[in-house]
Amino acid sequence: MPSHTLVLERLKGQGIRLTPQRILVLSAIAEGGGHMGVEEVYLRAKESYPYLDVATVYRTLHLFKKLGVVTEVAIGGQLRFELTDADRKHHHMVCQACGGAFDLSPAYLEELGQTLKQQFGFEPDLDNFTVSGLCANCAQRRMEKE
Ligand SMILES: [Zn+2]
Ligand SMILES: [Zn+2]
Repeated sequence: MPSHTLVLERLKGQGIRLTPQRILVLSAIAEGGGHMGVEEVYLRAKESYPYLDVATVYRTLHLFKKLGVVTEVAIGGQLRFELTDADRKHHHMVCQACGGAFDLSPAYLEELGQTLKQQFGFEPDLDNFTVSGLCANCAQRRMEKE
């Protein structure tokens, strides 16, 4: 994951005004370890700035998404956010039981993408690809119950 100071430098270079709220939202996402819901980002950023309101967090996330510094992932019908890392593009495996999200290397989907193109002329948008199922922990727990 890129350090958020690097991202801030980049934004500054693009002429984006770095308000304290924007810096807080960005560092909340960076420190949160990825895949954070809006509420989570809000609560974390609010710890350092109690006057922050959730609408600002929404707006800021939207701006960051447009600028490409933050990636939005739909996980179980909920939107989560993580810092965009161009060097570490990944897909997600999402657990239906605990809601956990796990990164999946694009290498696993390269062949699928090519097959779809060759056989169906279909150009898949695999950036938004998530696999749902059960994570190892939940699968284990389920087996023990049965
Ligand atoms: Zn799970
Ligand atoms: Zn991720």
